[in-house]
Amino acid sequence: MKIVVTVKLVPDPNSEKKIDPNTKRLVRTGVETVLNPYDEYALEAALQLKERAGGDATVTVFTMGPEALKETLRKALAMGADEAVMLADAALEGSDVSATSYAMAQALKKTGFDLLIVGGLTDDGSTGAVPGALAEYLGVPCITNARKAEVTGGALQVERETDSGYQTVRGPLPALLTTALTFGEPRYASLKGIMGAKKKPIAILTLSDLGLDRPVGTDGSKTQLVNFAPPPVRGKGKTIEVADATAGAHAIFDFLKEKKLV
Ligand SMILES: Cc1cc2nc3c(=O)[nH]c(=O)nc-3n(C[C@H](O)[C@H](O)[C@H](O)COP(=O)(O)OP(=O)(O)OC[C@H]3O[C@@H](n4cnc5c(N)ncnc54)[C@H](O)[C@@H]3O)c2cc1C
Repeated sequence: MKIVVTVKLVPDPNSEKKIDPNTKRLVRTGVETVLNPYDEYALEAALQLKERAGGDATVTVFTMGPEALKETLRKALAMGADEAVMLADAALEGSDVSATSYAMAQALKKTGFDLLIVGGLTDDGSTGAVPGALAEYLGVPCITNARKAEVTGGALQVERETDSGYQTVRGPLPALLTTALTFGEPRYASLKGIMGAKKKPIAILTLSDLGLDRPVGTDGSKTQLVNFAPPPVRGKGKTIEVADATAGAHAIFDFLKEKKLV
């Protein structure tokens, strides 16, 4: 069974995010790049499924991004993925969700998969639209928000987390699965894993490998970012000086009551 996991390379979530006012794009230079945190859960799911399947099951990580960032994928390889594939091409710049998903889908057709596991959301773009669009372009069933999954009799059986509990859903392979954070905490890379990752292959695909039948990049995008605004700056907190703890508790209670929070 070939399991492919999509992993986006994103600016470190702990770094300050800046938007370039001219391009209206996130500034990615000068900021450390990491694996999208959600995708580490997707990778954990893939590794668990591989371990359960045994035999010749493999895990490939797939990303679309600038080639200069390819070494960031070593962390995924150190966690246990067998190989990585990167789609990198300057002509992809300016791709919105539609163009991104289309290009990724064509590369994933080339890579091939039985099960495609996709994180639910990125820390930078955060549209959550890529999994559905990928499934549509790939023509495969899409099962979202999995907290458990197993492959039996050539089909995928999934427990989907919902607001009121969970659903059990079954679908044929090949299929696309997105994972909930309850699937399991991503594992740490072992020292052996880190050493082994240095020798694992990272293949680069470019657009000339794909033979696309529609444009990508700015020309292939169906949406346009027309404006952006940073979140409002938080006001200074209210400081209350009181004589003792009882008066302090009363003051906090009165404050919360005034805000209609109690
Ligand atoms: C007009 C326009 C121009 C843009 N130009 C650029 C640009 O030049 N450069 C740029 O980086 N972004 C650009 N973007 C943003 C880019 O389109 C999105 O980041 C991209 O479509 C993914 O969407 P998302 O981050 O919301 O993913 P989500 O839908 O939130 O992601 C869900 C899951 O999909 C997978 N996934 C998503 N993207 C990737 C990826 N690249 N590789 C592997 N897995 C992935 C991950 O597993 C992720 O957890 C542009 C957006 C617009 C609207």
